[in-house]
Amino acid sequence: MIDFGKFYQQIACGPLAHWLETLPAQVATWQRDALHGQFKQWYNSLDNLPALVPDQLDLLHSVSAQSAEPLSDGQRKRIEQLLRTLMPWRKGPFSLYGIDIDTEWRSDLKWDRVLPHITPLAGRTILDVGCGSGYHLWRMVGAGAQLAVGIDPTQLFLCQFEAVRKLLGGDNRAHVLPLGIEQMPALNAFDTVFSMGVLYHRRSPLDHLWQLKDQLVKEGELVLETLVVEGDENTVLVPGERYAQMRNVYFIPSGPALKNWLEKCGFVDVKIADFSVTTVEEQRRTAWMETESLADFLDPDDATKTREGYPAPLRAVLVARKP
Ligand code: SAH
Repeated sequence: MIDFGKFYQQIACGPLAHWLETLPAQVATWQRDALHGQFKQWYNSLDNLPALVPDQLDLLHSVSAQSAEPLSDGQRKRIEQLLRTLMPWRKGPFSLYGIDIDTEWRSDLKWDRVLPHITPLAGRTILDVGCGSGYHLWRMVGAGAQLAVGIDPTQLFLCQFEAVRKLLGGDNRAHVLPLGIEQMPALNAFDTVFSMGVLYHRRSPLDHLWQLKDQLVKEGELVLETLVVEGDENTVLVPGERYAQMRNVYFIPSGPALKNWLEKCGFVDVKIADFSVTTVEEQRRTAWMETESLADFLDPDDATKTREGYPAPLRAVLVARKP
């Protein structure tokens, strides 16, 4: 079973120590009662992956690892096969010993939009809410984070993270926990909290913003990335059954409306740092994610609209401070 013990030890003496009052019991309950039907299979793949230690590791410009002695064809094929049992791979890319995991999303492009606008991460304790496979956690480590903790309730993504970790020499500067944000106590302990690609999936977006604030230290920084629409501070789209084929999309505010929401929740120095239309270069079907992607979600005759007739995905990055 995935061993969270090292993480518990790591946080026992630091600002996250209070988490140990609830976390181990939650994780134990999860392991006992809530494992996904395919979890055993995924875990088996993880178990069969070799623990490799890279001679060259780049987390600053990408997530890539190399060994001085290249893997044999046989070794590489075997590892690639095991990684393929963890498909679909959505967030990446990862380049590991000559195996390129070309994920649905070029998450590096999002990171390039975010990084220039935030307080430098060196030495900070970070929470990434809805971290997926953990791609950005590794980039946070590359940017000098002291500790990068991700939470994500999707168990396949936890297994993907642990697979990458195993191939990165068991690096302990990043961790993923199988939790939703609503399961976290108010820790008031992280220097930076990221919520990227999550807000529009929440039925109560203002509660989500409050929960994020409850994780930050005083003067801590929130980095929020989400879908937005064009419009003024009173514009919010609440789509019908689906938005870009997704069933779980609730509120898509304009940038100015989102700024208002943040201020209403008590954040200050709220800045809208970036707007960007999602392109089919950033989100697309690949050999590692073989089902439908953005091109299939857009109106075939008008790429400025989704198939449902809503504005095509536009994303914003906002940065705010907890006073
Ligand atoms: N942050 C990444 C991934 C966004 S996809 C990025 O920006 O690229 C949204 C993620 O949120 C999914 O991995 C999903 O499993 C996760 N998620 C869904 N509900 C959540 C919740 N209640 N708390 C935290 N994460 C959640």
